[in-house]
Amino acid sequence: MTPSPQRPEDRPGRAHADSLIRFLTDSPTPYHAVRSAAELLEKAGFRQLDETGSWTAAHSEDGAHGQQGGGPGSPRGQGHYVLRGGALIAWYVPAGAEPSTPYRIIGAHTDSPNLRVKPVPDTGGGGWRQIAVEIYGGTLLNTWLDRDLGLAGRLTLRDGSTRLVHIDRPLLRVPQLAIHLDRQVNEGLKLDRQRHMTPVWGLGTPGEGDVVRYVAEEAGVPAGDVTGWDLMAHSVEPPAYLGHDQELLAGPRMDNLLSVHAGATALAAAAARDDLTAIPVLAAFDHEENGSQSDTGADGPLLGGVLERSVFARGGTYEDRARAYAGSVCLSSDTGHAVHPNYPERHDPGHHPMPNGGPILKVNVNQRYATDGSGRAVFASACERAGVPWQSFVSNNAMPCGTTIGPITAARHGISTVDIGVAILSMHSARELCGAEDPFLLAQCMDGFLTAP
Ligand code: ZN
Repeated sequence: MTPSPQRPEDRPGRAHADSLIRFLTDSPTPYHAVRSAAELLEKAGFRQLDETGSWTAAHSEDGAHGQQGGGPGSPRGQGHYVLRGGALIAWYVPAGAEPSTPYRIIGAHTDSPNLRVKPVPDTGGGGWRQIAVEIYGGTLLNTWLDRDLGLAGRLTLRDGSTRLVHIDRPLLRVPQLAIHLDRQVNEGLKLDRQRHMTPVWGLGTPGEGDVVRYVAEEAGVPAGDVTGWDLMAHSVEPPAYLGHDQELLAGPRMDNLLSVHAGATALAAAAARDDLTAIPVLAAFDHEENGSQSDTGADGPLLGGVLERSVFARGGTYEDRARAYAGSVCLSSDTGHAVHPNYPERHDPGHHPMPNGGPILKVNVNQRYATDGSGRAVFASACERAGVPWQSFVSNNAMPCGTTIGPITAARHGISTVDIGVAILSMHSARELCGAEDPFLLAQCMDGFLTAP
């Protein structure tokens, strides 16, 4: 019997969504997310560049090697990436590109709101061992209650090297107070960020150094070698298809790993082509959720430094750099709000983004989003080329509008920028919800953008 194209597993976006599920599961922190993206790009022939090394030498060396094995489809060009902390910049220079060849940039961010371990983590009370945490970003605190949490992040060792650690089993929990002890709770849950969000991780008396010793053992390194750490909690419940027809996808960190994964997929696909007219770039930044001001954030020098070095390493001048930037465009991708069926009054009545309706164009005339009419045209033609539908998002005038890295990228680099994304529900929850086809439609749209003639 011929399988019906309507079966969930036969839908066009299913393989991409399966890949996204693995990406989300493997990426509980920004440090893991950039490693997951780098693994996708390595398979397409991209090679890591060291920021402290000579890129001029790397470019000529790769040119010589490229003929033999630059990876599938990329023997004639050069795919490179730079990793710094939780940020990744990757780009593919097609054969014959001039130093003044413009960039087509996909922007995204790797961080998500969550609970992060404090410098002196060992705490407790009443016979419980607890871990002191800070709140990162605009976390929906209630969504972290009564959830089985793992712990993951980056250890810095005495010799300066770093080690990723991922404890992906139930280890922590922020227990909610029983309703019997808070009879008014359903009229509005109030959570004190300092007193009420401290997870338990067992019974007994807390001892100094317990948490780091435990994590070091998990990572297979002596605790005495751990001189620094960046650790955070994550839900251990795996992503899942949801709905009567499996048309939805539930999972953590879709804001904004959904865009990072789609961008890496589209960049890898673009590197297999020999008709590119621009240099495709993926810029995945950290620290979007608290304003992007860091050495790995969109408001830092990372992207500009990499793009300039690429121009100069290929023999370009300041004039070439100015010409390249003037012709460049950035498609900044982040999640947006689908219309919530229980709160339709919070949304604009004339703009109703729906899951599986395709990527959304995000507009805000006050520059919370960077999109303008010419950006809309770039996005619309990318979608048209890719054969994907698209939708418009604008806020209800009575609601404050969120923002993202788009306006920062436009202002910092003077590069024309369009804000787009995927419409989801439960943004900033520990478990968000999107349409199962939308991640694929977004990747297709990005592909149409990167490969535009
Ligand atoms: Zn976001």
